[in-house]
Amino acid sequence: MKIALGDLVIPGRKETSLLIEDGVIVSFDVSGAVDRAYGLNGATVLPGAVDVHAHLREPGYEYKETILRATESAAKGGITRAFAMPNLIPVPDSVKNLKAETERTERDAKIAVYPFAALTKGERGEELSDIEELSRMTLCFSDDGVCVNDLKLLEEGMKRVKAVGGIIASHAERRGAKDTRRAEFEAVEEELELVKKTGVRYHFCHLSTKESFELLKKALAEGLDVTAEVTPHHLTLNSMMIRDGNWKMNPPLRSPEDVEATREALISGLVGIIATDHAPHSIEEKARPYESAPNGILGFETLFPVVYTSLTAGGKLSLEALSEAVTAAPAKRFGIDCGKIEIGRKAELIALNVTDYRAYTAEEIAGKAKNSPYIGKVMTGFNVFTLVGEKVLYRSSEIKEA
Ligand SMILES: [Zn+2]
Repeated sequence: MKIALGDLVIPGRKETSLLIEDGVIVSFDVSGAVDRAYGLNGATVLPGAVDVHAHLREPGYEYKETILRATESAAKGGITRAFAMPNLIPVPDSVKNLKAETERTERDAKIAVYPFAALTKGERGEELSDIEELSRMTLCFSDDGVCVNDLKLLEEGMKRVKAVGGIIASHAERRGAKDTRRAEFEAVEEELELVKKTGVRYHFCHLSTKESFELLKKALAEGLDVTAEVTPHHLTLNSMMIRDGNWKMNPPLRSPEDVEATREALISGLVGIIATDHAPHSIEEKARPYESAPNGILGFETLFPVVYTSLTAGGKLSLEALSEAVTAAPAKRFGIDCGKIEIGRKAELIALNVTDYRAYTAEEIAGKAKNSPYIGKVMTGFNVFTLVGEKVLYRSSEIKEA
């Protein structure tokens, strides 16, 4: 089947069309008959994003979200691959439990989903998972949502993950620290010591304090194999903006100074990856008073508009750098070969409308959950079209089939 895409912009190229044949990009010129054609209204075409931090909630928390609806929401947001965190029921801490997750993913997911296995049994931080056996199914390990505070256990986990050639994604948060800022950067400091000792590949989730970035900078100067991600919300929202449970997440929103440090870490290239920490919750849970509402907000559909509007539109972060941070860099770090628009490659494309500004609405959210602090926010850079192979995974009403 031949699919033609026209009236588009590809950063760094002068052509304005793409021809896809049997799911593969075959030409930047469209001539001759095609089976389907779409005009993209001048939208900017980029490779689909790779989100290395997502909570899909299934199995175990279907009342919050399902794999089907979450991945529909991802496709709408321009995310074509997502890494699923292991705070599920059952926790994927054994091959049997991980299979309970991957069987559902294979059945329901609209995009490619890669599972994180739990680093410790039940994410309890007491005993390591069967890392060697799990490594037949995934090389990515995390206890995200909680931090492994037992440093002896963590060191042992690092050694075993290194031995299987894996990577650990860490939610750094030390229990018992004086405040939530110290909880983050003290854990980062302790964990970096162990990374230095063991040589494991290590990735810090959602860093959000000035001190964390200073520690990361030092670690990179020492040559440690470490990366980090920042989230769209920590790049744009601060603690003074908190209104209700939909502004509650972990790490919590920080001071304007920390937000500035987070932006600077991304803009300078110190941190190369943006991940959403997409975390759906039910409407009832998020309607509770702030103190008792659960942590986490939606992120899939607002990744591009939030970052584009706050950084790219103002010229602080180029579109190329934005694309690198959401696609090429995370793909490379987590071992996936994707993220290029070139002849002979499978089509995995999204298209951003970077000219119109509009408000994000609760009604448009493709997922089941609605817990986003960005509802009502006027932004630009929304994804309008997602194509993987020959499948149109998302098409906004503004994109017409010719
Ligand atoms: Zn986390």
